[in-house]
Amino acid sequence: MESNAYGASAAPKTTKIPQIGFVSLGCPKALTDAELILTQLTAEGYQTTKRYDGADLVVVNTCGFIDAAVEESLAAIGEALAENGKVIVTGCLGARKDAGGHNMVTAIHPKVLAVTGPHATQEVMDAVHRHLPKPHDPFVDLVPAAGIKLTPRHYAYLKISEGCNHRCTFCIIPSMRGDLVSRPIGDVLSEARALFEGGVKELLVVSQDTSAYGVDVKYRTGFWDGKPVKTRLFDLVAQLGELARAHGAWVRLHYVYPYPHVDEVLPLMAQGLVLPYLDVPLQHAHPDVLKRMKRPASGERNLERIARWREICPEIVLRSTFIAGFPGETEAEFQYLLDFVHEAQIDRAGCFAYSPVDGAAANALPGALPVAVREDRRARFMAVAEAVSVARLKRRVGATMQVLIDSAPALGRKGGVGRSYADAPEIDGTVRLLPPQKASKVLKVGEFTRAQIVAAEGHDLVAQPI
Ligand code: SF4
Repeated sequence: MESNAYGASAAPKTTKIPQIGFVSLGCPKALTDAELILTQLTAEGYQTTKRYDGADLVVVNTCGFIDAAVEESLAAIGEALAENGKVIVTGCLGARKDAGGHNMVTAIHPKVLAVTGPHATQEVMDAVHRHLPKPHDPFVDLVPAAGIKLTPRHYAYLKISEGCNHRCTFCIIPSMRGDLVSRPIGDVLSEARALFEGGVKELLVVSQDTSAYGVDVKYRTGFWDGKPVKTRLFDLVAQLGELARAHGAWVRLHYVYPYPHVDEVLPLMAQGLVLPYLDVPLQHAHPDVLKRMKRPASGERNLERIARWREICPEIVLRSTFIAGFPGETEAEFQYLLDFVHEAQIDRAGCFAYSPVDGAAANALPGALPVAVREDRRARFMAVAEAVSVARLKRRVGATMQVLIDSAPALGRKGGVGRSYADAPEIDGTVRLLPPQKASKVLKVGEFTRAQIVAAEGHDLVAQPI
C-alpha cells in the first residue's frame, strides 16, 4: 500500500485561513477520491497541509482492502488523533464493519468526528463544514481547471467509474463501493481535456472494471463539445486518444477485463492513438480456479485472445496480476498457471500469495492452503514471470524509444529517469537515462525524449538520449 501525505495550495495571508491536514492511503482509486476532496477544499478557500500540528482538523483517507492496509489506516487515524485531536475519516475502511456489525473505525477510535465510506466528497465536505466553517470568501480562482493533483504534474489518474458489478469471491470492494456507476462521458472527457491543458502528459485511466464502462447506463449517448458520444469503452478511448494526440500526450488503460469488445480498442493502439499497453488483472488461468474466484470473463479463451491482440498490435505490452495459493488450488492447477504465464508471454506480472480478507466469500471455500504453500507458490510464480519479463525486455536493446522523463536533476547533465510506453508509473520498471552526449541536449521533467536502449538491468532499461 502506498502512503502519502500532501499539501496543496496557498491563500492570501490577510485573514486566518482554516487549515486542514490531509493524509491519503491506498490505491490509485483512493488517490482520485483524495484529489476530489482536496480540490473541493481548496475551491472553498481552505488551506491544506501535510502536517497535523497547527492544522485546525485532519482528514484521513483510508484503505481497507487487506489486513495490512487496515492496520496502516487505523494507525494513521490514531496518530492524527494523538497529534491533532480533530479527525474526519473517509475511504474504504470507513465502510467496514467489525465482527459485531459496528463501524470498525468508530469502534476502535470513538473520538473521530465523522466517518464516511469511499467516494464521498460531499459527505466529507459536510463534516468539514460542521467542524470548521468555510472561509467567507471562497478563492475559487486559485484552483486550476485541472483540480488539485496528488501525482507529479505530468501524469494523472482519470477515474471513469466507481464500484463493480462482479462478486469475485476474494474481494470485498463491491460491498464497500457498491455496484458500477459510470461517470457521464462528457464529464470524463472534460476532466481529461482540463488535465491535458494543465500540463499532464500521461493520463492513466482507472476504475474497478474499465471494460464495463457504460454497462450501468446501457451505453447511453452523452454529449461532449456539442457532439453525441456513447458511454462505452471504445468511444471513450477513441475520444481520449484524439485529445491526447492534440496535446502530444499519452493515454494508458488500467483494469481492463478481457471481454470480446476489448478487441475493438486494439486498432486504436496500433494507430498510436492510445498506448499499446493493457493492464489486465487475470488473477489466474485455470478455468476451475477462475470459477471458484467468480472472475469476470472467466469463460474467455485468454491465450487465443492475447494472440489476436498481438496480431493486431504486435508492440502491445501486457501487465497482469495473479493470486497464488487460492483455496483448493491443486499443484496441477498452479502448474497450469505457470504454463499460461510462459505461453502468454505476460510482459509485467505481479503476484500475491492468497490472503483471506475479512468478509470475503472465499474464506468459506474448502481446501485452504497452508501459508507456507501459498508463499512458496508465489515465489515459484515470480521466478517464471521474471524470467519471461527479463527476456522480453532484453529484446528492446538497440531499439529507439520515446521516454517520458520523471526525474532529471541539473537538466539531465548527470542523466535522469523516465519511462517508455511499456512502463506505468509506480508499478512497472523505468528507463535510466544516461547523460546526453550533445551539450545542447537537456532533459526536463514532464517532457519526452527519444532514447536508444543500450542495456537491460532486471526490470529496467538503460538508454542514451538522442
Ligand atoms: S472485478 Fe472482482 S476483484 Fe475487481 S473490484 Fe469487482 S469484485 Fe473486486
